[in-house]
Amino acid sequence: MRILIVEDEPNLSAQLKSRLGDEGYIVDVAADGEEGLYYGREYDYDAAVVDLGLPKLDGIELIGELRRGNRAFPVLVLTARGHWQDKVEGLEAGADDYLTKPFQTEELLARLNALMRRAAGYASPVIEHGGLKLDTAKKEVRVEGSLVELTAYEYKVLEYLMLNPSRVVSKTELTDHLYEQDFDRDSNVIEVFVGRLRKKLTPVNPIRTIRGQGYRFYLEAAG
Ligand code: CA
Repeated sequence: MRILIVEDEPNLSAQLKSRLGDEGYIVDVAADGEEGLYYGREYDYDAAVVDLGLPKLDGIELIGELRRGNRAFPVLVLTARGHWQDKVEGLEAGADDYLTKPFQTEELLARLNALMRRAAGYASPVIEHGGLKLDTAKKEVRVEGSLVELTAYEYKVLEYLMLNPSRVVSKTELTDHLYEQDFDRDSNVIEVFVGRLRKKLTPVNPIRTIRGQGYRFYLEAAG
């Protein structure tokens, strides 16, 4: 999952980048609204965290511009304490949720997780399909009740496909959303991960290869 953080307090953005990185997210940081707009238009994100008080272009304008440009990813705004009007303005501009500073990073992580899950059409943090169970909060996968040991990257591939269930996801898209920019794009590492995942998830087979296009999450309904 690739996350955009637009925040002009360097300590806060560094802390968020590091914590989100530990959770397995790929994070881009923009220090002002114009840079945020550039990133938001240029790249496809799974979610964004936007401070409202930003230099050059404020958070409200930034969100408005992104939404007018059909950027639909979930946006969590950060507001200063006591500025309740900011929350209303942020939500009206197209944000999906807000957090008041100062906040606990755990709360930000939980809210981001919920936003991305809801954007994918899931209400529950546990996504279940015919014998396969993915717990997005615990980052756990079970097949027919048994815990499956996945590496962080294997988990990320499966989670990304499960959170984008209704379409084909290309290898390029997986690379963009799961790896840092300097990742070797010519390698066949995605194929290797998918191959290992399939083995570990047997007997369920939730990943279909769409020849020449990529992968698609697909499972027959249980029963
Ligand atoms: Ca600020």
